[in-house]
Amino acid sequence: MAASNEPIKLTPENYYSHETDWQYMSFSLFKDFEQCEARALAKLKEDWKPKSNPTPLLVGNYVHSYFESMKSHGDFIEANKKALMTKPTKTNPQGHLRAEFKIANQLVQCLQEDDMFKYFYGPGDKEVIVTGKIDGYWWKGKIDSLCLDKGYFCDLKTVDDIHKGHWNAEEHRYVPFIQDREYNLQMAIYRELIKQTFNIDCQPFIFAVSKQTPPDKEAIDFSNPDGTDAYQMQEQMDKLKELQSHFWKVMTGEEKPEYCGKCDYCRETKMLNGFVHASEIEV
Ligand SMILES: [Zn+2]
Repeated sequence: MAASNEPIKLTPENYYSHETDWQYMSFSLFKDFEQCEARALAKLKEDWKPKSNPTPLLVGNYVHSYFESMKSHGDFIEANKKALMTKPTKTNPQGHLRAEFKIANQLVQCLQEDDMFKYFYGPGDKEVIVTGKIDGYWWKGKIDSLCLDKGYFCDLKTVDDIHKGHWNAEEHRYVPFIQDREYNLQMAIYRELIKQTFNIDCQPFIFAVSKQTPPDKEAIDFSNPDGTDAYQMQEQMDKLKELQSHFWKVMTGEEKPEYCGKCDYCRETKMLNGFVHASEIEV
């Protein structure tokens, strides 16, 4: 079983590869499994690829690379020229920056002009890879900006609208983006992996910036008013420990994946095999 052996050493080159995904669980893979196990497994096996729009991810990476270093930003632009620029025309042989990335530039500027953001995010080491074992299974994480000497780390998030509500089917109410995207869980995982990698307990911060014109921004912390353990972190880790062993067993083929029945993968592979009663359609 992959989880019990010493895994491959992670580098910036192999960090996002599926090869290392089989050996290390990550926040994004865990979330994939939570949403639909069959879809997550098919993606991991490279049997299937989602037909998603890559632009929102590229906008996020554009902003991240800017605050990493000028070199990273230059490399990112060079590597993604086709997606970033419009097609060249006679009057404009270079093409110009697509509208989405003009907005990305506004986000960069909005953060660049903010003293609090620069004070906290600026000095940290960027894109730091951390690993560790959680309940016997290997995990990996990448920290946007890590300030070990001051005992905190920052994650930069680009969102549509910081104050938009997201429907939560379990709780039957609208929840903020932090809860919708399970960022409490991500911060709990990163804190644990930093502790295991550097032996230092760091406090998590999120800097969120919105893709609105003009952009909104927020600095978010996770401490409780009484100063006790960070907000909902233990609860999140308990949930992770409860769910992960089944996900790992689905990966090794010991247990069967569940089909959510509603996602893009499930719809693409769906075959009717009976009637659903008119009163029993799930919403
Ligand atoms: Zn599904």
